[in-house]
Amino acid sequence: MKKLLFALLAMGPVALAQHKNPNPGYWQQHADYKMDVKMDVEKFQYSGTQELVYTNNSNDTLRKVFYHLYFNAFQPGSEMDARLTSIADPDKRMVKSFKGADGIEKKQSKISELKPNEIGFLKVNDLKQDGALVKTKVVGTVLEVELAKPILPKSKATFTMKFDGQVPVMVRRAGRNSEEGVALSMTQWYPKMAEFDFEGWHADPYIGREFHGVWGNFDVKLTLDKTYTVGATGYLQNKNEMGHGYEDEGVKVETPKKQKTLTWHFVAPNVHDFAWGADPNFIHDKVMGPNNVELHFFYKNDKEIIENWKKLQPETVKLMDYFNKTIGEYPYKQYSIIQGGDGGMEYAMCTLITGKRSLPSLIGVTAHEFAHMWFQHLLATNESKHEWMDEGFTSFISDFAVNHIMNKENKEDENAMQSAYNNYYYMVKKNGQQPLSTHADRYDDNMNYGISAYSKGAVFISQLAYVIGWEDTFKTLKRFYYDYRFSHPTPNDFKRTAERVSGAVLDWYLVDWTQTVNTIDYGIKDVKVNGAKTKVSLERIGRMPMPIDLLVVYADDSSESFYIPNTLMRYSKPNPFPKINRTELKGWDWAFPTYDFEFDTKGKRVKTVVIDPSQLMADVNQENNSKKM
Ligand SMILES: [Zn+2]
Repeated sequence: MKKLLFALLAMGPVALAQHKNPNPGYWQQHADYKMDVKMDVEKFQYSGTQELVYTNNSNDTLRKVFYHLYFNAFQPGSEMDARLTSIADPDKRMVKSFKGADGIEKKQSKISELKPNEIGFLKVNDLKQDGALVKTKVVGTVLEVELAKPILPKSKATFTMKFDGQVPVMVRRAGRNSEEGVALSMTQWYPKMAEFDFEGWHADPYIGREFHGVWGNFDVKLTLDKTYTVGATGYLQNKNEMGHGYEDEGVKVETPKKQKTLTWHFVAPNVHDFAWGADPNFIHDKVMGPNNVELHFFYKNDKEIIENWKKLQPETVKLMDYFNKTIGEYPYKQYSIIQGGDGGMEYAMCTLITGKRSLPSLIGVTAHEFAHMWFQHLLATNESKHEWMDEGFTSFISDFAVNHIMNKENKEDENAMQSAYNNYYYMVKKNGQQPLSTHADRYDDNMNYGISAYSKGAVFISQLAYVIGWEDTFKTLKRFYYDYRFSHPTPNDFKRTAERVSGAVLDWYLVDWTQTVNTIDYGIKDVKVNGAKTKVSLERIGRMPMPIDLLVVYADDSSESFYIPNTLMRYSKPNPFPKINRTELKGWDWAFPTYDFEFDTKGKRVKTVVIDPSQLMADVNQENNSKKM
């Protein structure tokens, strides 16, 4: 008993933070990894062992399991390569542009040109389940495993393997020698168990995006040339032997001269991925954030960037404070911002970002990737299927955070979202949409994916503020985080949270906005003055229902507002403009394309009538939203 208690205490409070997902019967699989990896920094090749203790918490008997071998995507002829060739707007980072003999600009996939010593690969050898060899088959970026014996419900299996990998030339997210000269950007780098959940297996090939992983604990040893500094997921266990800026104050670290390598030992409790970056020329700074969370910064010793990376540090403290207050407290004791990769990408307890940026851009990318820690990592929705929840919610809160820390808060918060609305309107006009429920890899083009996930996803939340008010929208974010962190929530879980907080029925909102391409278009058809009375005729042109806020401004600049509930909601929202007198009218049933009402102007002349003065409702045709008299 005492021993157990001691073991629990030693793990610290974070290890104990398990999910509290309130859905009846909710379960999730569990994977504890132990890896020991040696990296040859000259050849960019590595080899390692992996022990994976897998717990099947489902009611299914598993006869197969699947591992992701993400690095295999960086090979000529891979699905990622094929997609680059066939998509109309390939990611600029992944193609070379050149002028053909006909003078027309052509694009060539960078993957198609990789030589054998430049490709990425992951090879699994000697995979055993509880000591017995299993049958495996590599299909592109997925290893299909026929189990030696079934894994029964509520039982464990231990998988052991040896693996070899090669770090690809940087094409996307991970790789060697980034454009900014970071030697190792190690993300999606190890054989990773695919997630199995209430929907079954998610053994998606690596084509473009994104990720979904099994919650568990990671224990990772990385051995590489002693000159390299490593930033990674988790806590360094041997910091006072390693130095490189990790050591406690006053500790002197000396590595025997003859020793060529160092072994970094990281432990990460309750995460669903492990990433790292390393370079022999990293500066490593530590700053204390809120709640004694250590913020680590790793960046090249390059005089062009040092000043901005120093200035970024206090801003990151402010960002964290903002996220803690608006979403909920960050539960780990460390977060690292590592220069690397090809833009910005979020991982467990760390991010890899490019570092040669203006200060606003550096703060902006840090805000976005750091916010992902709450949405991509802690509220680990399936990013491939619900990309709009991950990227959209992250964009929403990070835009607010940047507004907040740049002291622009007084300029109406909703302005933070204006470009998201504009992008969405642009997409609707230009080439239509695909539903947000589209798998992230299967949008027609990258533009549609980007605007759908980031912009339309962000508008989902700011428009929710139109539907149930700002106060309940922010309460919903907090409650969602509190209830669903450390698990895999779904879109319905977010909707139910908003319903629990507000009391409104919101299924119509989730369905129309995320599972259809229905748009919102309400219009003012007519305004007629009839003695002391004025009659307003409204029409619903778009398919998607909404409640209506209507503002009436009089010639003397006084105003009043009218609220027409959407009857599907069985709800009345708080007055968004408490200083303006509001009259709640009879609800508008969706099936009626028009709605008329009459009001007494008390002798005043009506100057303008406006639908949704907040402009939080994403009405695709704004021209018919106001009428001047
Ligand atoms: Zn993002």
